Amino acid sequence: MPDIETVPRDIDSERSTAPDSGATSAPGKYFPAEIEPKWQALWDADPALYAAEGHDCGKPKFYCLEMLPYPSGVLHMGHVRNYAIGDALARYMWMRGYNVLHPMGWDAFGLPAENAALKNNTPPREWTISNIASMKKQFRRLGMGIDWTAEVTTCLPEYYRWNQWFFLKMYEAGLAYRKKSKVNWCNLCQTVLANEQVVNGCCWRHEDERVELRDLTQWFLRITKYADELLEDLDKLDGWPEKVKTMQRNWIGRSEGTLVDFEVQGSGIGDQGPAGKITVFTTRVDTIFGATSVQLAPEHALVKTWTQSDSQLAAAVDEMLAEQKAAREAGDIGAIEKHGVATGKFAVNPFNGEPVPIWVANYILADYGTGAIMSVPAHDERDFEFATKYGLAVKRVIAPNLDTEDLPLPYTGEAEAVLIDSGEWTGEGCLEAQEKMAAFAQANGFGKATITYRLKDWGVSRQRYWGTPIPMVYCTNGHKAGSPTSQNRDAGHPAVEAGGLVALRESDLPVILPPQIEITQQGGSPLGRVPEFVNTTCPVCKGPAKRETDTMDTFVDSSWYFYRYIDAHNSTAPFTSEKAAYWFPIDQYIGGVEHAILHLIYSRFWTKMMRDIGLVSNDEPVERLFTQGMVIKDGAKMSKSRGNVVSPDEMIERYGADAARMYSLFAAPPDRDLDWKEDGVAGISRFLGRVCRLVTKYAEVHAGNTVVDVASESAAGLKLLRKLHQTIAKITQDFSGRWHFNTCIAAIMELVNEIVAAEPAMDSGEISSAAIAEIFRSLVLMLAPFAPFFTAEMWQQIGGEGAVFRAAWPAANEELARENEIEVPVQVNGKLVVVVKVPAGSDEAVVRATAMADAKVIARIEGKTVVKVIIVPGKLVNLVVK
Ligand SMILES: [Zn+2]
Ligand SMILES: [Zn+2]
Repeated sequence: MPDIETVPRDIDSERSTAPDSGATSAPGKYFPAEIEPKWQALWDADPALYAAEGHDCGKPKFYCLEMLPYPSGVLHMGHVRNYAIGDALARYMWMRGYNVLHPMGWDAFGLPAENAALKNNTPPREWTISNIASMKKQFRRLGMGIDWTAEVTTCLPEYYRWNQWFFLKMYEAGLAYRKKSKVNWCNLCQTVLANEQVVNGCCWRHEDERVELRDLTQWFLRITKYADELLEDLDKLDGWPEKVKTMQRNWIGRSEGTLVDFEVQGSGIGDQGPAGKITVFTTRVDTIFGATSVQLAPEHALVKTWTQSDSQLAAAVDEMLAEQKAAREAGDIGAIEKHGVATGKFAVNPFNGEPVPIWVANYILADYGTGAIMSVPAHDERDFEFATKYGLAVKRVIAPNLDTEDLPLPYTGEAEAVLIDSGEWTGEGCLEAQEKMAAFAQANGFGKATITYRLKDWGVSRQRYWGTPIPMVYCTNGHKAGSPTSQNRDAGHPAVEAGGLVALRESDLPVILPPQIEITQQGGSPLGRVPEFVNTTCPVCKGPAKRETDTMDTFVDSSWYFYRYIDAHNSTAPFTSEKAAYWFPIDQYIGGVEHAILHLIYSRFWTKMMRDIGLVSNDEPVERLFTQGMVIKDGAKMSKSRGNVVSPDEMIERYGADAARMYSLFAAPPDRDLDWKEDGVAGISRFLGRVCRLVTKYAEVHAGNTVVDVASESAAGLKLLRKLHQTIAKITQDFSGRWHFNTCIAAIMELVNEIVAAEPAMDSGEISSAAIAEIFRSLVLMLAPFAPFFTAEMWQQIGGEGAVFRAAWPAANEELARENEIEVPVQVNGKLVVVVKVPAGSDEAVVRATAMADAKVIARIEGKTVVKVIIVPGKLVNLVVK
């Protein structure tokens, strides 16, 4: 928190227009520094204040959630905006009578705690717990209406034991398994990363650190089992932003195609490499008569066999491997300069019996499809480029119709095109041919239709300390009897490491993370250097065993934390299904779009897994998702390195939490980026000061005045009431979906301007006390979701009962909100001349007469003939004159 002396002079001068932050009270003056701590103390003393009611309370529920923060130690403005959006919605839903759950927790495992430990020699746990305490204090100071009775901290055994429990359930179900594979490695993190955590070839935490590929044995979660469901259910998520759904669709990357076996010529099955055949994956089997080569990835098993006896080929392949690695690490394998080398071998196209040369090409990836393709230069851009470069044959087999002669190549038509020069298939439409040819391949034993995905299984092993220990041990007796399903699992997944791997029993949980260990930069899992942790006994044979020393990816923690909120103190289960049935799916989830293919895909998978083990009945965790924009300053995202960070504490100290929160909602629509301008916060503070003066001035009218007698209300009173009910209607509508809180707050400001203009009429008694009372009561209620401290104080001043956020949201009176005059633009020959006012609901004759009687219109049409009058009711009058 900045010292007052360090505040620059120009900010100081701002103080004269900002409210006094001094503690000397004066009637009608706005003192956030006095009001806010007063109410905060009252709220802090009542832990049940924002607590949700039980699932059996009989009220409709509303689960309002913002993504939980990482406890770095301080909230930044992006957080403030995120939580201000959610808090406004939660408060509004309370006022609408819902049983609202609005919890908060801490995504408390992760690398920064270990880095901090290295830097400051503070144990990660201590550092994390103390950061949580500071941030919680900030949350309270901001007046966030959070149910702290449901607080969840993921680094505590009460929570992470359930990660271990889920892991065992998934292991039993064959959804957690170990295999050796090529994995992403960040040298700065000193750990493996999931594919989702690699952004443009770099680490998601270290945006300038290229990720390396290493061959390691790791734990994986079988998210691909749900690939189709994850894809199909996106169509059900009407309340999700299209951009997020598109990102997930692309990430899942489903593609339908055909597997076709090409036999390697001159090789009896088995004597040339693993199978003596090459299985290619193609999405266009209909073009197979045009295949003029087969292309293999440098890592293809057959290539490995051949390079053993061909040093020239070996050298070329090594070079390609190096290129691929570099391109992949640069994140742009698609941009690689394509080249290849002929192996001198041939493979036979099973559809026409023709041999085609086998090449190894640098742009074919081992982990996409089968690592082998058939090259059809006439009908594929990339293959055409490659064939042109190396003078390979180009054979046209697809055309718009059978009579097409000259056709520029490559021709990639599909839906409207037919096969030519394709034997018995000639004349078939491409799409029908794809189905029939796949079936033909299957019937003849050399292929089948298939589906591939870009989505890979989720690598969850991390070679780090500060995470959930994986509840598995390696028994030195090497037996495999420990797991009830080990046989079946091993049969299904031969890559699972054989021997010694034993799952712990539920009763062995939690496996506690040792509280204090020495964090170093040495390679390998830090837990491996803690003998008290590593050495244990096998739960089956009681012989000596070693614990798994990798920990779980922290995205495991956030995959299900929102289920724990509903039952945060349950010590016998992660949560009870009955409560989940009431609270789920989450009605509104709010967070950054950067999680679109990380947390938001993992948590969808986790819910489906929990459904399949009978824990929940919902298919999806989140009904509606909102992704807010970033907070930027001076044109760039706020960040320490850019030196443009604005501290919430500083804003609170100068203008109060209400002004800071309300500004973050007012300055831009919530889904857009917000450019932080301090004078805007000062402006909001002045606005609240104005409201404070008005509410205080008319505080006495509230006693006994509740119902407005519309029939006897003056014109001035009705005008103000009309504005009031229009404002209520607008805000009510916005909360139901559009969330244009910026225009909501602007509408309230407009209303306040009208109230100020009507002060003489209020003072003279022209506007009734009942009307004044209704206007101020509603004004305070409408501000309640945006400025909780301020409205608590104002509510008390006008004698409101109970907490303002439990008071009923004002209902818009449509009758009163209706305009009694509307404005109609009048054009002459399409050009705007004047805007006239007519009584609302006037018929065309009245509108026409009013328009024609206007002096400006008369001047414009004088001496001319009106040939036509076009009236768009309620919108426009256009006079056509000659
Ligand atoms: Zn990293
Ligand atoms: Zn054993």
